[in-house]
Amino acid sequence: MSAPLLNLPKFSVYYGPVQAIHGIALEVAEGEIVTVIGPNGAGKTTLLNAIMGLLPSQGGLTLGGDTIARPTVEAMVRRGVALVPEKRELFGEMSVGDNLLLGGFALWRRGQRDQAARMKEIFAIFPRLEERRAQMASTLSGGERQMLAIGRALMSRPKLLMLDEPSLGLAPLIVREVLNIVSALRKTGVSVLLVEQNARAALNVADRGYVLEMGEVAVQGPAQTLMHDQRVIDTYLGVG
Ligand code: ATP
Repeated sequence: MSAPLLNLPKFSVYYGPVQAIHGIALEVAEGEIVTVIGPNGAGKTTLLNAIMGLLPSQGGLTLGGDTIARPTVEAMVRRGVALVPEKRELFGEMSVGDNLLLGGFALWRRGQRDQAARMKEIFAIFPRLEERRAQMASTLSGGERQMLAIGRALMSRPKLLMLDEPSLGLAPLIVREVLNIVSALRKTGVSVLLVEQNARAALNVADRGYVLEMGEVAVQGPAQTLMHDQRVIDTYLGVG
């Protein structure tokens, strides 16, 4: 088997003296959708931010087989990692099209002057964004905003897309729509690391999952196995 796209052998993150992530091991294979589920405060956002280089971490990681001892945002973006943060962080007073163009800045920096072509590909994934191309981002619905945030991240042609709680604040039907699109991204060769509190929705689209509790991996395995794990059912899936 080839080396995983992303591999954390023993990853730790501290906030001052407080350890938020306790030497966890995690990997994402090429073309895989991996989810990290767990309760509030388990460290899910911390994990993504530290992988992206937004927070200092220990233990290092490998990306495409290359060792990165201390990830920085610049290095991670350059190597094809994109993060969609929980708050979406769109430019509300700018149009949908301009928000996408800003996401293509990394392409432009790499000398790829084909933002327009890339935008067409994004519109093929999210037809709704094309319809609303000239509309101000702040006037979009919650689901459309999430689609724009994902579309903007995809503009840089990432190999690994990291999503922080894309379902947050969305109605169940819209959650399904957004996650179906995430699932379809696999066909375009993008790997996904998906952080979710909505365990059922996340396990439905993921290949594998990790349950994070208090900064440690409590359970991990294929998504279908986790769906039938009694402890996961009792704690995260409930009845239904
Ligand atoms: P949620 O789903 O509520 O966002 P989470 O699983 O993403 O939760 P984190 O936000 O990563 O969890 O938080 C993990 C732990 O780190 C929590 O105990 C939190 O209080 C702590 N923490 C987060 N940010 C900071 C910070 N800037 N300074 C100190 N501690 C922090």
